[in-house]
Amino acid sequence: MATPIGNLKDITQRAVEILDSVDWVAAEDTRHTRPLLQSLGINQSLISLHDHNEEYRSLQLLERLQRGESGALVSDAGTPLINDPGYHLVKLLRQHQIQVVPIPGPSAVITALCAAGLPTDRFSYEGFLPAKSVKRVQVLQGLAEDTRTLVFYESPHRVVATLADLKSVLGADRMMSVARELTKKFEQFVSGTIEEVSDYFEQHPDKVRGEFVLMLGGASEKEAVALSEWDGLIEVLLKQNLPIKQISEIVANYAGIKKKPVYSRVLELKG
Ligand code: SAM
Repeated sequence: MATPIGNLKDITQRAVEILDSVDWVAAEDTRHTRPLLQSLGINQSLISLHDHNEEYRSLQLLERLQRGESGALVSDAGTPLINDPGYHLVKLLRQHQIQVVPIPGPSAVITALCAAGLPTDRFSYEGFLPAKSVKRVQVLQGLAEDTRTLVFYESPHRVVATLADLKSVLGADRMMSVARELTKKFEQFVSGTIEEVSDYFEQHPDKVRGEFVLMLGGASEKEAVALSEWDGLIEVLLKQNLPIKQISEIVANYAGIKKKPVYSRVLELKG
């Protein structure tokens, strides 16, 4: 079941009732969940279920549920399984025909999207980008032509470096929004082009703290279609062993599209 991502008032009435009535609560970090339950006046038996014990703990919980007990699963914040433990447990319970009831509530991805002002009709939630820049750039290159809004979670230690990589791979002009400290006292949205948002955080190091969701407008349909139309020419130029930069320039000039996405496409096709 979902729990608050900052503001404790965001717990639902249904979540409170169930937390109080089940036989046990499996929690990502019992030290984190105990104060939440205390603030709700609930005294529950807590069982830890985290990334490092999830597989064997799930087997134990399955057994207890098969004996007729009832339980709830919570993570430190937001919705379990959304970049949080719970997948193994839910999969196992479903395999054994144990009823799993979702109790909806906050999740940073949806909370951020619904106030960012970017298109929400189609979006892709990508979780955390890789910590190392080389891998991060590769992942971003694979997403450069995606026309859906892209959503990433990011840690404050990496947010400035990630913004720099976003600018270099997706171009300075794409629209984006950064949601920081959602539902908390210092909640903030910073929106604009990638360059503007990136400049803002470089100039305001005091704001590079807390929890972050990064959202990017998708590639324009025109760009995506236009790019794939040029795959044949890119392949021919690659066979001539021309440098990637030169191929990107030739194709971008010929096709009348931006160099950055062409460069990413050439890299992708080169493999
Ligand atoms: N299960 C959670 C959910 O449903 O959103 C996500 C857990 S994940 C381990 C933690 C990441 O979620 C943070 O690093 C941050 O990127 C994002 N996040 C969680 N709470 C947030 C908040 N209040 N404001 C902004 N981002 C938040």
